[in-house]
Amino acid sequence: MFVTTLGTGSPMPDPNRAGPATLVQTAGQNLLFDAGRGVLMRCAGAMVAPAMINAMLLTHLHSDHTTDVNDVITTKWINSFVPTPTIIVGPLGTQRFIDRTLATLEDDISYRVHHHADLTWEPICEVTEVSDGLAYEAEGIKIFAFPTDHAPVHPTVGYRVESEGKVVAIAGDTVPCEGLDRLCKDADLYVQTVIRDDIVKNIPIPRLLDILDYHSSVSQAAQTAAKNNVKTLILTHPVPAPQPGTEGEWIAMAQEHFSGTILLADDLMRVET
Ligand SMILES: [Zn+2]
Ligand SMILES: [Zn+2]
Repeated sequence: MFVTTLGTGSPMPDPNRAGPATLVQTAGQNLLFDAGRGVLMRCAGAMVAPAMINAMLLTHLHSDHTTDVNDVITTKWINSFVPTPTIIVGPLGTQRFIDRTLATLEDDISYRVHHHADLTWEPICEVTEVSDGLAYEAEGIKIFAFPTDHAPVHPTVGYRVESEGKVVAIAGDTVPCEGLDRLCKDADLYVQTVIRDDIVKNIPIPRLLDILDYHSSVSQAAQTAAKNNVKTLILTHPVPAPQPGTEGEWIAMAQEHFSGTILLADDLMRVET
């Protein structure tokens, strides 16, 4: 399996970090986890065209993780030559979110259907809502959803990809919890969105301080990795974005709790397991 951290940013626009999105490539499939700002630009960087995306799995409906869901739907649609559904998996509420997304696209859909004689169908989205259990199955790949804790955002899920004898855990935004432990038990790769609580708590901006209680800190991610016998921990969606030269601090902070391999993700970092 190959894991590419397509976008490693957060809600704050960053010239070097696109919005949260991770690509898992296994058994000939391209599986997209979340679709933040610029996701299709980063897919292009990973040599994955929109039509090649087999499924899009959402961890939660926070805007930074979903801003470009509409772009995936539209661009996959206009690049298809026969009616091809976009397979979408997400927590409860995803169907409503996709219905609303399609409603905002109605004008564009009608322009294109009227302009292109060979485009006779509208975008087709097949949505599966998941909470705990099997979420996706194809080509010997099994993906299981597990409930995570990003309260008050609810519900949220993480995904455990089991394929080719390996396990990749895509956690999304969450604090340590029982569902997260099950999600990443014995995983070869565990991808966790993180914040530096030691930095954020010293910034006197109430709206920033609010993020402390619903994300894993670097230390917590490392503790979760150690507790669950993970082989490699990937820190992604780092908040605040690491200043050049400070990357080692993030790694050292995680090493205090976890003795496996630790990687701090940049956009388009590709890891094989
Ligand atoms: Zn979130
Ligand atoms: Zn986030």
